[in-house]
Amino acid sequence: MKITLKACKKCKRLTAEKVCISHPEEKLTSDWSGFLYIKEHKNSIVAERAGITSEGMYAIKVRQ
Ligand SMILES: [Zn+2]
Repeated sequence: MKITLKACKKCKRLTAEKVCISHPEEKLTSDWSGFLYIKEHKNSIVAERAGITSEGMYAIKVRQ
């Protein structure tokens, strides 16, 4: 079984759920590319640049 991850258009978080846990009102898209796993967002320059404030999986590019 293949799990399809979708990206939140607002925070770019990837999820296998139907909605983003942070933005249940926001739509998810399967039109994303790149993949980023943030474990320690406090010490991550990448997370800081991307505006990521919690750990998880994120898409690098999300088509709006
Ligand atoms: Zn979100």
